[in-house]
Amino acid sequence: MPKASTQPTRLYRIAVPSPLRRTFDYLPASAETFPAQVGCRVRIPFGARRVTGVVTALVSETDVPVEKLRRVEAVLDAEPLFPRSLLSLLVWAADYYQCPIGEVFAAALPTRLRAGEGLVASDERWLTPLTAADDETRETQFAALKRAPRQLALLQLLLARESYSAEEIAAAGFGRPMLRTLQERGLADCVTVTPAPRPHFKNTLATASGASVLAPAVTAALTLTAEQAAAVAAIGAEPESYRGFLLDGVTGSGKTEVYMRAMEQQLALGRQCLVLVPEIGLTPQTIARFSSRFRCPVVALHSGLNESERLSGWTQARDGSAGVIIGTRSALFTPLASPGILIVDEEHDASFKQQDGFRYSARDLAVMRGRAEHMPVVLGSATPSFETLHNASLGKFTHLHLPRSTAALPRAAIELVDIADKPLQQGFSEAALLRLREHVERGNQCLVFINRRGYAPVLTCNSCGWRSECDDCIAQMTVHKTPPRLRCHHCGVSEPLPRLCPHCQSSTLDTFGLGTQKAESFLQRQFPHTPVIRVDRDSTRGKTALGDVLARVDSGESCILLGTQMLAKGHHFPNLTLVVILDADGGLFSADFRGQEHMAQLVTQVAGRAGRAERAGEVLLQTQHAAHATLQSLSNESYAEFSARQLEERLLASLPPFAHLALLRIEATEAEAALGFAATAAQISGQLAEDARLAVQRLGPMPAPMEKRAGRFRVQLLIKSERRGQLQDHLRYLVASLDPIKLPPRLRWSLDVDPQDMI
Ligand code: ADP
Ligand code: ZN
Ligand code: ZN
Repeated sequence: MPKASTQPTRLYRIAVPSPLRRTFDYLPASAETFPAQVGCRVRIPFGARRVTGVVTALVSETDVPVEKLRRVEAVLDAEPLFPRSLLSLLVWAADYYQCPIGEVFAAALPTRLRAGEGLVASDERWLTPLTAADDETRETQFAALKRAPRQLALLQLLLARESYSAEEIAAAGFGRPMLRTLQERGLADCVTVTPAPRPHFKNTLATASGASVLAPAVTAALTLTAEQAAAVAAIGAEPESYRGFLLDGVTGSGKTEVYMRAMEQQLALGRQCLVLVPEIGLTPQTIARFSSRFRCPVVALHSGLNESERLSGWTQARDGSAGVIIGTRSALFTPLASPGILIVDEEHDASFKQQDGFRYSARDLAVMRGRAEHMPVVLGSATPSFETLHNASLGKFTHLHLPRSTAALPRAAIELVDIADKPLQQGFSEAALLRLREHVERGNQCLVFINRRGYAPVLTCNSCGWRSECDDCIAQMTVHKTPPRLRCHHCGVSEPLPRLCPHCQSSTLDTFGLGTQKAESFLQRQFPHTPVIRVDRDSTRGKTALGDVLARVDSGESCILLGTQMLAKGHHFPNLTLVVILDADGGLFSADFRGQEHMAQLVTQVAGRAGRAERAGEVLLQTQHAAHATLQSLSNESYAEFSARQLEERLLASLPPFAHLALLRIEATEAEAALGFAATAAQISGQLAEDARLAVQRLGPMPAPMEKRAGRFRVQLLIKSERRGQLQDHLRYLVASLDPIKLPPRLRWSLDVDPQDMI
């Protein structure tokens, strides 16, 4: 049989925003003003919709019969939005994470670009495709416009020159609606042209007198410690090639100073720096430090921006006018005109892993991007993830250590307070209250850590035993006092706080356990003359709320800071002298094999907030399990010793980083349906692995640790291999086999490669 379509023609292979795991081939536009390049956006008909796609390849053959091929409607960018290196990384990531390529591009593009808008308004150029057409077509079009003299006039204007800016057209007296009309007739096209890369930032920083300032940074009057200097030298040794570094040092050891010196080196060479941080809201200090240190434009990309601000920041990164780009997870995909260095601060943080849709790890992709764009990558943390420690021990990353020398203080030791069988007042032991009092009386700042927001984790009835449970989840509803409601922290449902037991109507309702709101009112009663400042997601909802709180604490006034893990991230509290961790026992017995790792990171990070400046800090950890090996290790050893020991256990159990995992998650409104599909998937996986002789094992299917959430039953199948390549091969086959299966109504499945969170 002759092949359907071998005649040579230029075709575009396009990533389309759709859940389908494939690209689609299109013919060029009929009157193409200029060809699309790989990395340009195009407007295409897709089914009955019109969507914005990204060209991933130019091809001359396709499996689709030519007569079925559709045409691109318009090429939206005159130049690729993404450089080849970044485009290839996105394509690679779609394959690695088994995510539809269109969803990958959707995650990588600012909303406005996804919607087909131009890069920035002033970069729009208008032109007519007729320029290239023959005279005959032109005459026909002129004739067709006989009754629309204004349109004809505009068309003639467009024909007179290669292209016009929107401003020029407006100046000539034609409005935007007129342009749109002509565009709909196929007689005008709008393209986005990147301005010729602006003179690089290092040259554009003119002083008031007009003189150019070449030095990109205001060098701080600090003498680096020997270890910092060595780290800076190592990172800068080969500034134009990929090298991976783990910068390992406790809070306050001077990591940020090392980042900034390494960035200075790159900026001086005219290259850009991309810095990823866990949560921008929590790192105003870091941004402020960068902005005051560097004279080049520093842009921050975060969720607080509106779409035009985001697009503007993105554009400045892409055209090279911004020198430093600092952002959260998705900022990793920001194109850089001149990539210099990539830094991932607090690399152990869970927020670098996207938990839905395109489930990528920004930390892992950062390393891939560094390779692709030939730049050093620095992963920094006081509590490195086990994956990163393992990579360092394999020699994949250079392990740079910063001892706690800048603060010249020993590490605050973690004191365990055994609360088994001890009387507690609202969750506080005698010892903890006593110590708080001592520090408060000395006018110091204290931090109390509870990893639970709300007033109390559950409402119970003392008469009949009723508990506040969510109807849609297997979980308790949390009691909130301000405003008074019961809330499910898993699905977001909330209801009024009952006064009487909904089951037996008695008035013996009581809260059980402790949340931040309850602790706040308790502490305020205990310490009426000291401000108690609560920091959790509820207290910091407003845009400036967190900043205000942090500024207040920075002022140094005596206070008790009380809050959740938000306090463990990024922000430094130089005046803290006491940290009390009320309860971290949950992590000891977690269903997740990373439970202990995460608990150790959290405790170490929270503990690290104490004793930053000249004052020594104390750390108390209340526990029911004082003899537990993990707590003993955290109390008596360093995080490094703890992690080394835990890594040995992971090796014995063949768990990451010594094995690689993928989690197939299935959710359905009917438990039966979810279990049924999971069994099918497990069977297919088993067969595929056997056929291909791949060393891939399965665990499950089994109910997810939280069996029901938001009204859906959840089942999971864990797939594991000690060989990453084999797991990858297997997943490709598995997805290809699962994709065509017609799913029962309201059942969906997803695959999480390198899952971080097993629940
Ligand atoms: P980290 O990022 O590891 O928490 P930072 O870089 O923020 O540490 O440093 C902590 C504090 O120590 C900052 O106030 C910083 O200015 C200061 N610092 C860092 N390096 C030095 C140095 N070599 N000499 C004096 N102070 C330093
Ligand atoms: Zn009751
Ligand atoms: Zn719920």
